[in-house]
Amino acid sequence: MSELPGPIPETDTHCPYCALQCGTRLYGDRELGVKAQPLAGFPVNAGRLCQKGWTAPELLNTADRLTRPLVRHRGRLVQASWEQALDTVAGRLRALRSESGPDAVAVFGGGGLTNEKAYLLGKFARVALGTSQIDYNGRWCMSSAAAAGNAAFGIDRGLPFPVTDLRDAQVVLLAGANPGETMPPLMQHLEQAELIVCDPRRTPTAQRAALHLQPSPGTDLALALGLLHVVVTEGMADGSYIRERTHGFSEVADSVRAWWPERTEQVTGVPARSIRRAARMLAGADRAYVLTGRGVEQHSKGTDTAQAFINLALALGLPGRPGGGYGCLTGQGNGQGGREHGQKADQLPGYRSIADRHARAHIARVWGVMPEELPGPGRSAFELLDSLGTPEGPRALLVFGSNPVVSAPHSRRIAERLAALDLLVVADFVPSETARLADVVLPVTQWAEEEGTLTNLEGRVLRRRALLTPPPGVRSDLEVLQELAVRFGQPADRYPTDPRQVFQELRAASKGGRADYAGITYERLDAGEALHWPCPSTDHPGTPRLFVERFAHADGRARFLPVDHRDPAEDLSDAFPLYATTGRVLAQYQSGAQTRRIRELNEAAPEAFVQVHPDTAARHGLTDGAPARVVSARGSMIASVRLDPTMRLDTVFVPFHYVKEGRANNLTNPELDPRSGMPEFKVSAVRIEPAEVE
Ligand code: SF4
Repeated sequence: MSELPGPIPETDTHCPYCALQCGTRLYGDRELGVKAQPLAGFPVNAGRLCQKGWTAPELLNTADRLTRPLVRHRGRLVQASWEQALDTVAGRLRALRSESGPDAVAVFGGGGLTNEKAYLLGKFARVALGTSQIDYNGRWCMSSAAAAGNAAFGIDRGLPFPVTDLRDAQVVLLAGANPGETMPPLMQHLEQAELIVCDPRRTPTAQRAALHLQPSPGTDLALALGLLHVVVTEGMADGSYIRERTHGFSEVADSVRAWWPERTEQVTGVPARSIRRAARMLAGADRAYVLTGRGVEQHSKGTDTAQAFINLALALGLPGRPGGGYGCLTGQGNGQGGREHGQKADQLPGYRSIADRHARAHIARVWGVMPEELPGPGRSAFELLDSLGTPEGPRALLVFGSNPVVSAPHSRRIAERLAALDLLVVADFVPSETARLADVVLPVTQWAEEEGTLTNLEGRVLRRRALLTPPPGVRSDLEVLQELAVRFGQPADRYPTDPRQVFQELRAASKGGRADYAGITYERLDAGEALHWPCPSTDHPGTPRLFVERFAHADGRARFLPVDHRDPAEDLSDAFPLYATTGRVLAQYQSGAQTRRIRELNEAAPEAFVQVHPDTAARHGLTDGAPARVVSARGSMIASVRLDPTMRLDTVFVPFHYVKEGRANNLTNPELDPRSGMPEFKVSAVRIEPAEVE
């Protein structure tokens, strides 16, 4: 925090964590500390924050804040000057590139980076480094829903309507989403609605539901097919909407004929009568929404599952209808913007495909290079990390805004891959678990020390504002990128360090793309305008509601796409007789690198646990509160047993925020969705046994 004494001017900004991006007013005093309160008048959180938002200012004073670059010397990270650190990075990267080519260097970004950072990171990777090897942790967050949304609608925006529209809903189906725990302020918009929650666990959201469908892990796709079967066979599909606004219904209707409720019950474990009731509730409502979350998306068939729920929504005539719709509750703070500006392996800014000739020509023009100089698509996130240090893979990795050694599936293998690198560079503001493995650590600014923009789950572009000057010794990510680019012979003015200037260029790059920001300016945002992309010109009001008259495919129609159920990638067996599924708890966020440093959050949720049905626990010799070892084919973790009679008998739950022996991603299966590159986070075959802890 700044060393200047005295009160701090009130600053309106947004919470540093999830994709709801609650509006926050920061105030206080430099000695007594910064405080947060909900930003009055901001409709998304409408006067509320969750426990994480209230306590976020504590991050600004975290005791182990990084303020000096660190360079590994004789096995230890030791302090270095910025010049030494950056020269070390650039020198070693240059040597690796000249030995092994530009793809010897990889870049890994994050869904929490501002739009400006995500944009400049993509440009830095593709122009300064010339590498195709860039992807980001958002691949593990929203990629399945994004792929399905793009296929069905021709565009992907988490919620294609303002979150406040949900206030008028009569019925909302939440499939694999637990906003009651992950985004509590969202729940006020659902107070009037009857909720149907599809989740293997009886989550806090499921406890508020009128109907809880509790499928076996990995069978959500079958459940969606069963719901659509009832809609079709009971004549509840919206015929005129289907005729006028869509293609492909009859093939999809044929494909669900075999999914009558009793068969769906056999596969999912959800009673046939509940499947019929859910379909009738949705179809009987004038205003209904289907929302998906990570629970149905983080599977090796996650895209097909999201597609099946979109098919259901289309059959009911919901997308684009006033008072109805389909949406995905994006998770990370800038999960939406992070996927639009070019840090994704297969995309260029403006949410353009990197394989598209016209897109390449446009972006090359904005960047001042030739289209043929731009590399092609690279590996998706897990494939990229899994290739590190192999004969075919990159030999160096630069990580910005991510902690993949905790958040990646099969984390033991990822730790081995990181250890096999010639050079690991991490830019962060705390010594995350990944930073501790690095050869060079670069200390960078955090949320309330920087200007920029983020785009929340409803496609609304928001201003992040600086309240404090960064501590001495800390630089912004944009400054780091410029410094490194210059060391690669790039002109400094191609990598501006002023976020406004970067945003100006981002606007030009996005112009005409699917996510068009051309008409959004800092001035308009600072004047309080609510601007949702696409916003193609400065006199355009933005687009809070998509699909009202047409979908984004050239003919204006949405697509039904047939999909079918397949079993989880891993079967249960005598050795691994239970499913483990992973998720979040209220008081922690993602890999926990930030929230595990907040005293109140740590007191509320200090350690890993494994949630188990009492009968399952008894069968495996476990007692409440005692340590248990959970073992999969890939690794194990130790956590205390938490008995819960609402759990399925065949399923245990572990949160993924914790480290050391409590690391849940030691268990998870890196089998990838062929359409999106999403790993199978939500279903791993495991066994559970009592653990001895010293
Ligand atoms: Fe922050 Fe999300 Fe909590 Fe809102 S819901 S306060 S954005 S963590």
